[in-house]
Amino acid sequence: MTEKKVYLDNSATTQVRKEVLEAMLPYFCNIYGNASSVHSFGQEAKAVLNSSREKFAQLINAQYSDEIIFTSCGTESDNISIAGSLLANKGKHVITSKIEHHAILHTCQNLQKNGYKVDYISTDKTGKINIEELKNKITDDTVIVSVMHANNEIGIIEPIEEISQILKQINKTRKIPVLLHTDAVQTAGKLKIDVQKLGVDLLSVSGHKFYGPKGVGALYIRRGTKIEPLFHGGHHEFGLKPGTENIAGIAGITKALELANNELEIEQDKICKLRNYLKDGIISKIPNVTINTDIKNSVASILSVSFDYIEGESLLLMLDMAGVAASAGSACATGSSEPSHVLSAIGASPISAQGTLRFSLGRYNTKEDIDYVLDVLPGLVEKVRKMSPIYKG
Ligand code: PLP
Repeated sequence: MTEKKVYLDNSATTQVRKEVLEAMLPYFCNIYGNASSVHSFGQEAKAVLNSSREKFAQLINAQYSDEIIFTSCGTESDNISIAGSLLANKGKHVITSKIEHHAILHTCQNLQKNGYKVDYISTDKTGKINIEELKNKITDDTVIVSVMHANNEIGIIEPIEEISQILKQINKTRKIPVLLHTDAVQTAGKLKIDVQKLGVDLLSVSGHKFYGPKGVGALYIRRGTKIEPLFHGGHHEFGLKPGTENIAGIAGITKALELANNELEIEQDKICKLRNYLKDGIISKIPNVTINTDIKNSVASILSVSFDYIEGESLLLMLDMAGVAASAGSACATGSSEPSHVLSAIGASPISAQGTLRFSLGRYNTKEDIDYVLDVLPGLVEKVRKMSPIYKG
């Protein structure tokens, strides 16, 4: 075991920023009232809830603060968007992509078991959605289109504005508009989120991906969008997420997004340079690798690399012993022996998918971190390859 530790799994989760923790601390022991209580303790908490909602709305350029609900996580925001809009609107058809996170895919699969129809749109080799296919799948029965803003395994950014324009055109002649949802869990805090420019009706966010706390997310719901709750038991968050509000978490996610937005360009530029330095180093030092991330059209933090003749889990464990944290595909797929659905969708062979690692960088990574990875990785790859019966190196 080594002393050196390098965390390159920032798409799985991030550490809470000190400023965020400080912003949260007053709401555990000092201002601890229930925001629904009429007394002054409750009203203090309610004021924090209201001001956070207003701030959060500004940060993503929502028109009204009541377009924001705070949830428990990105998964919950995704579930409310898809299942909640089907419950509220006539129609039984959903369109999504083949490369969505399981928070969307498993929700859709469950809906299919209950009689709903779902179409999964294919992508090109970079992971970009096939727009023509999407257009052709829209029927009178379609309630919602859900396409992620950026993919969590390979980082591709999807053309949400273009999809929105297409839907706007189609909706001109429909009584009930087709809704557009985007899962922005991997882009909030990394790209400037502007819900009006994107032209979405629903947008999901998760706090722990941008140095906020775990257990808190947000969902933008454009005013006028019909949506039914999935849980019942209270009036909180306009009835869509009943349960006493997590005021510390809500203050935390809002502070985290504010800080990230303030430093967006400088920070993403730094992360992008480090990511590209890692990519160039891997290409020059290790033979037989494929870069799955479309560098020109991806979030700056993600680098997906397939190493031929490698069993990804073995390499991951060796990297871990060397102090480097990365992931095989997405964190949520770890433990599953199935090749990643994202890599399959972009045409990677099952063998290549097995040998794929995702490195995801963040604000605390340094050039020294990347130099260290580039120092240890070639030897570890060679070691794992030597165990492969088909490697002739
Ligand atoms: N959507 C995407 C694209 C993600 O990457 C993740 C988490 O990795 C989620 C949704 C789920 O978010 P949460 O962990 O907040 O439920």
